[in-house]
Amino acid sequence: MQYVFQCFTGDLSEKSLADAGSLLAALRPFHEAGKLKAVMAGWSLDLDFYRQMKENLAAWGVPFYLKMAVFSEWNGYEGFEETVSAAGGGASSHVLSSEETFEFRCPTSAHNQEEVLSLYDRHFAPIGFDGVVLDRIRYSSLVSGLSGMGCFCERCRAIYHRKGLDPDQIRERLIAYSKGAAATSLRLLEKNSDGWKVNDPVLDAFFRVRCEILEESLGKVCAAFKERGLSVGLDLFAPSLGYFAGQRSTQLGQMADFIKPMLYRFTDAPAGIPFEADQLRQALGDAAYDDYIRICGSEKDDFREVAERELTELGKLSCSVYPGFEVNTVPPIVRMTPERVANMLDLVEQAGFDTIVPSWNLAMMPPENLKVLN
Ligand SMILES: [Zn+2]
Repeated sequence: MQYVFQCFTGDLSEKSLADAGSLLAALRPFHEAGKLKAVMAGWSLDLDFYRQMKENLAAWGVPFYLKMAVFSEWNGYEGFEETVSAAGGGASSHVLSSEETFEFRCPTSAHNQEEVLSLYDRHFAPIGFDGVVLDRIRYSSLVSGLSGMGCFCERCRAIYHRKGLDPDQIRERLIAYSKGAAATSLRLLEKNSDGWKVNDPVLDAFFRVRCEILEESLGKVCAAFKERGLSVGLDLFAPSLGYFAGQRSTQLGQMADFIKPMLYRFTDAPAGIPFEADQLRQALGDAAYDDYIRICGSEKDDFREVAERELTELGKLSCSVYPGFEVNTVPPIVRMTPERVANMLDLVEQAGFDTIVPSWNLAMMPPENLKVLN
């Protein structure tokens, strides 16, 4: 198995949360065993940290990628245009920790797209990264409920019109469902490479258009990074849940060099499968949740069957797929043990993958968990 390690260094902070010397010491055994394929870190502004990492990794012949948030985070940075929810405010955020929060930017804003590239050019380009891994490339998931979905700024409303949708009708529907209608009527009919089919035609079309918008927007950002000679990776939700945040792995995979689907079975926070599945139940109702389980697999044994089916589907994609699963522990939201790491490693190997992304923060991975991998 080959590994692409990742490390979270903080959000706009001048000083990295992680220490380059400690990270390199943890990576060395993997490099010496010939298993270190690449390393990604981001997105604090501590340039000395990246310089030190880049210098050492280059000497090892290992590519170094900048992990970079796109449509959320950069908290405190005033340069972005926010989303406008169906209810009229911003999409509410879920705070994971003081360093990791989730607020959303409008993906159709050309200014937002340019600002991401400008942040890269202004701060990170001199480091000489080999690529970027784009993170937070989504709308708010069901964590904000149906009324927090999508964007209803003037520009997005015009795009909905152009694509044959009535934004006011969508808003009314989202708000009505968020008041309880979902508990009785919403159903997930089927899932294919275009996403889920939902029994309400207005929502069905809206969900699909959100994906199209993200693909169009992200396509421009990916192309611009590639023009700079950089490899591009994408950090994605588990495909069965990503659709509700505007992500379709099949389509997004075509614009990147690799994708990293987050198959987080043990995380009680955004992107975690149990967490997002529970948000689906709360937002779409019990019947839709039962549909999800029937189609995607049992929640027994920490959603093991869901992860297995996701891996089978991901194995059919034509792009490179590096599955990600938790190796760090972040009490109380994720408690990863060596047994759980071994269990996930086993699933990924059985599915035929040769590269994984031990997630999501090398700086917080206990030695006993890392030992399972090497
Ligand atoms: Zn918008």
